[in-house]
Amino acid sequence: MQAKLIFKNMAPYTPGKQIEDVKKEYGLSRIVKLASNENPFGYSEKVRQAIPNMLDGLEIYPDGYAKALREELAKRLDVKEEQLTFGCGSDEIVDILCRTFLENGKNTIMATPTFPQYKHNALIQGAEIIEVPLKDGYHDLPSMLEVINSETKIVWLCSPNNPTGALIPKEDLVNFLEKCPEHVLVVLDEAYYEYIDHAKNPNSVSLLNNYENLVVLRTFSKAYGLANLRVGYGVASEEITKLLNITRGPFNTTTISQLSALTALKDTEFLKKTYQENITNKLAFMQFCNEAGLDFYDSEANFLFVKLPTSGDQLFAYLLKNGFIVRSGEALGHPNGVRITIGSKENMEELQQLIKNYLATI
Ligand SMILES: *Cc1c(COP(=O)(O)O)cnc(C)c1O
Repeated sequence: MQAKLIFKNMAPYTPGKQIEDVKKEYGLSRIVKLASNENPFGYSEKVRQAIPNMLDGLEIYPDGYAKALREELAKRLDVKEEQLTFGCGSDEIVDILCRTFLENGKNTIMATPTFPQYKHNALIQGAEIIEVPLKDGYHDLPSMLEVINSETKIVWLCSPNNPTGALIPKEDLVNFLEKCPEHVLVVLDEAYYEYIDHAKNPNSVSLLNNYENLVVLRTFSKAYGLANLRVGYGVASEEITKLLNITRGPFNTTTISQLSALTALKDTEFLKKTYQENITNKLAFMQFCNEAGLDFYDSEANFLFVKLPTSGDQLFAYLLKNGFIVRSGEALGHPNGVRITIGSKENMEELQQLIKNYLATI
């Protein structure tokens, strides 16, 4: 069976190693996964307590409009309810955006390396991909502006950027929006928004008042620790949101995921702890890297991209047999580095010792 021509050059997503597989393969009893930027502190205890009460009505389709979550989120973000689109993770919002705006003959602009789903979904819709290399881990915004033309539909800004962690400073973001033509949608993917140093918060949602062509993406998968429940959302003008909701499947989030997200939203203590621990443990890890002579990119996220004198695959393999799963740079389009999720203090100390041992062997 012949799929679209572009499928000849495409492959399914290769996920990070699964914990159970690694245990079996290396005969390990314990694995620490620092590969997918999940929350090392789990998720809110309030969500755990609430889930057993969500088990009635599984035979009934969910509220596709996600009314309760929508009301609460609109209030917290100070936007209208009609400005929100919910998805099966923000991954799905990326897909919905591509399906709504991209087609053959149009192009879309993104950094490289960045989150791979922009390119993947854009290719499926037949759009031309224009990739602009990062500069020292940061988006090269002037160069991205330069390549915009009349056929450009979407520019993707990932901030903090995955896999480097660099945040687009607010000034640069506003300057970009100011210069970006109005026919181009600017998608600001803020999957790590809750981790950004509060002093550097770009307050991006408030920019929607000035820039009608902006879409902000957020998720419950990272700092809220609900990756498994798959809830993300987009914030945009009412006009754009209406279009996205035409594309969106009618029941794309479940009642359990909606109510869990709503409960997580209200547990500000859990979020505060996550934020604080991440900053403390990230600073300690950065200090370790400095002392070990390892360079890394600036990071406002819950991960650090560490540059290596060897291939990323090599350190990845060493850590794997010692029970730590990280993400090799080679797999992320950036050779000679690894992306490491910031874990708990104990796990990071153990990891640092392993990296030290590794460096002594090369
Ligand atoms: C993790 C991640 C997402 C996707 O998260 P969902 O689980 O689909 O909500 C989106 N963008 C970036 C940059 C990410 O790192």
